[in-house]
Amino acid sequence: MSVSIAGKVAAITGAASGIGLECARQLLAAGASVVLIDRDADRLASLCAELGPGARPLVLDLLQPAEVSALLPRILALAGGLDIFHANAGAYIGGPVAEGDPDVWDRVLQLNVAAAFRSVHAVLPHLIAQKSGDIVFTSSIAGLVPVVWEPVYTASKFAVQAFVHTTRRQLAPHGIRVGAVAPGPVVTALLDDWPRAKMDEALANGSLMQPQEVAEALLFMLTRPRGVTVRDLVILPNSVEL
Ligand code: NAD
Repeated sequence: MSVSIAGKVAAITGAASGIGLECARQLLAAGASVVLIDRDADRLASLCAELGPGARPLVLDLLQPAEVSALLPRILALAGGLDIFHANAGAYIGGPVAEGDPDVWDRVLQLNVAAAFRSVHAVLPHLIAQKSGDIVFTSSIAGLVPVVWEPVYTASKFAVQAFVHTTRRQLAPHGIRVGAVAPGPVVTALLDDWPRAKMDEALANGSLMQPQEVAEALLFMLTRPRGVTVRDLVILPNSVEL
């Protein structure tokens, strides 16, 4: 049994590319209107023109806390409501800890953790007031199992999972569901930063997924009837060395 999300308003961060963009496409196809949030103004403008009237661009740099604090009134002004918030934007960093650049770590942690949490905090007053809503994070298999060759990314996604588990319990009495999709490697621009050897291995063993598969998992979660518990969806590849 499933429920319709037609007529709902969704907002997705990092929606100008990869997983966020495909989630926007599938939510629009399911009849929702979607606010696509990204810092890439040019891509957002051309994508929203292509996606049609249900798609609204919101240009915002998630690394600027003041911009994130002002997220809710901007979403409401564009779409007139909010039912589904997808904290999806993220960046990748892998490699040996001793060779890492802490300034790069800071940016990854800021985006994957602090900005994701801040963005949810910014929209919560609206969802609490209407006593319903869905908050979904794009986590990762690296949020559930330590991936040895990407310690900082793994730490960031473990933090996301911890936030999901704790806020799920806090927000359930307010009628708000909190969940995460946790995919293995997905073919997006993010994998441009993957080590060549890992990419060759993944290509050879067929373990790469498409963003469409993640969007389908998101749709599955959002269309479960209220009261049906859907824990986080882990979308595993055929095989990946963790
Ligand atoms: P992507 O690089 O294709 O898209 C990321 C988007 O985020 C881009 O459009 C970019 O402009 C936007 N963005 C980056 N910094 C921003 C900022 N400061 N403010 C606003 N927008 C910003 O990446 P993707 O693979 O689609 O990743 C989406 C999410 O999926 C991330 O959280 C990532 O960790 C997670 N994930 C990806 C994979 C994978 O293999 N691709 C696997 C598991 C989880």
